[in-house]
Amino acid sequence: MTKELKQYINGQWVESSDPKKLNIINPATQEVIARAAKATKEETEETIKIAKRTFESGVWSDRSPQERAAVLVQIADKLQENIDELTELEVQNNGKTRREARSDAEEAANTFRYYAGLLNIPNDQAYEASEDMQTLIVKEPIGVAGLIVPWNFPLLMSVWKIAPALAAGNSILLKPAEITPMTAVKVFELIDESDLPKGVANLLMGSGSVVGQTIAESDDVDVVSFTGSTGVGRHIMQAATGNMKKVSLELGGKSPNIIFDDADLETAVDYSLFGIFMGSGQVCSSGSRILVQEGIYDEFVEKYVEKAKGIRVGPGNDKQSQMGAIVSEKHFESILEYIRIGKEEGANLAQGGNRIKKDGLEKGFFIEPTVFTHVTSDMRIVREEIFGPVVTIQKFKNEEEAIKIANDTVFGLAGAVFSTDQNKALRVIKKVRAGITWVNAYHLTNIQAPWGGYKQSGIGRSLGTYGLGEYQETKQININLSPKPIHWFE
Ligand code: NAP
Ligand code: MG
Repeated sequence: MTKELKQYINGQWVESSDPKKLNIINPATQEVIARAAKATKEETEETIKIAKRTFESGVWSDRSPQERAAVLVQIADKLQENIDELTELEVQNNGKTRREARSDAEEAANTFRYYAGLLNIPNDQAYEASEDMQTLIVKEPIGVAGLIVPWNFPLLMSVWKIAPALAAGNSILLKPAEITPMTAVKVFELIDESDLPKGVANLLMGSGSVVGQTIAESDDVDVVSFTGSTGVGRHIMQAATGNMKKVSLELGGKSPNIIFDDADLETAVDYSLFGIFMGSGQVCSSGSRILVQEGIYDEFVEKYVEKAKGIRVGPGNDKQSQMGAIVSEKHFESILEYIRIGKEEGANLAQGGNRIKKDGLEKGFFIEPTVFTHVTSDMRIVREEIFGPVVTIQKFKNEEEAIKIANDTVFGLAGAVFSTDQNKALRVIKKVRAGITWVNAYHLTNIQAPWGGYKQSGIGRSLGTYGLGEYQETKQININLSPKPIHWFE
């Protein structure tokens, strides 16, 4: 039986007043795996009011950091106990491989644990401003946090927001991407089993144009945290101006991955494959623009193409699969359109470029790992985020040109340098205008490190202490230790 997904409002699982449902599809088979509620604008407004009332009541916002940490640990434990189910749900709904989904689920549990730990480290300050003035800097929750999440990491992106928002003491409303609600629903089932007071955490499913837009516009939402495309991010920022709510935006990328002549070739090829084909390239920080120095360009391309060709594409629940399905038919069509554009622009299609139809994959949305070589900076496939298993390999002459090409983009999310000359590698990575970078690696990060982009890749940072700060206000309290008149007007 297909699962009926309800909304979680004020601690209750409820249907939407709109009887229309959205069929949730497994992109590896096109089977309907669930039917999801679609919240209306009125329901969204009502839920925001509930979150606001709950916040103002102090049931959660007034709890001590230690008490909040204890609840976060409960949720972490429950996530840990349910890793197998979370993995399966993510594989079915998103199309990623089991290995990828499992790693996301483990990271999700760790994120709750991390923020629980952070609550036990005071980040307030106290100092003497003058002999008679004691100043305290205290952190307080902002209020109602609206959390809007994309479909590429449905579980992990939800948790990257829920954990710090709750840790800070806010009340929350989460909106997953309409097409991938399965793991978010599971997270709320687990939250429901924890000691979090009812009404603090709420889940609404439905479209961005209705639920997302209402959250972004609402005068009762105090911070909107959004992960998704740069286009929608810009829209959210505009919608947020009414009440000057704080915005935190994790947006798209077109990240450069720079390989110098003196790189360890095998390592560079290996990470550069991982950099784009992990998650079928549907990863914001993907190294989608590989830049290779002219001395090793041909050798690099030859080795790279051979390995890309060997990647086994298939359903995420098949142990043999190394790369999964594209999340939806719509997105699948958009990637194929970019491949068509690349050919039209005159790039050399060195590998892939097609839908995979053989071996029982015809029902799913599978695309071959695709490599374009001999590209130039003006091509659309080099400038625009394709968000699929499509990489371009561009040639550069020297350090200066590498930096110039790397930064010739409106995005600034991630970047990497491969070289055995550590001085050069550090010199170059410091010049790359991006928030998440690597030297001789790709994609490997940790919860402590702030995650986010320069330029049009976003505003603010997730994770680490910065991630908590996105959901906090900072207040100065100045205490006069010798109260007496100052006679200013005498
Ligand atoms: P998207 O189309 O921007 O959607 C993201 C979320 O915003 C979805 O929940 C969507 O709802 C909602 N939304 C759409 N229109 C809205 C509106 N007018 N107001 C409020 N919310 C609205 O992005 P996506 O296609 O799901 O995800 C891919 C993008 O996310 C890529 O650009 C990728 O780079 C970016 N991303 C960035 C990071 C990062 O950390 N920087 C991480 C992951 C992904 P519905 O789709 O349900 O209608
Ligand atoms: Mg979308």
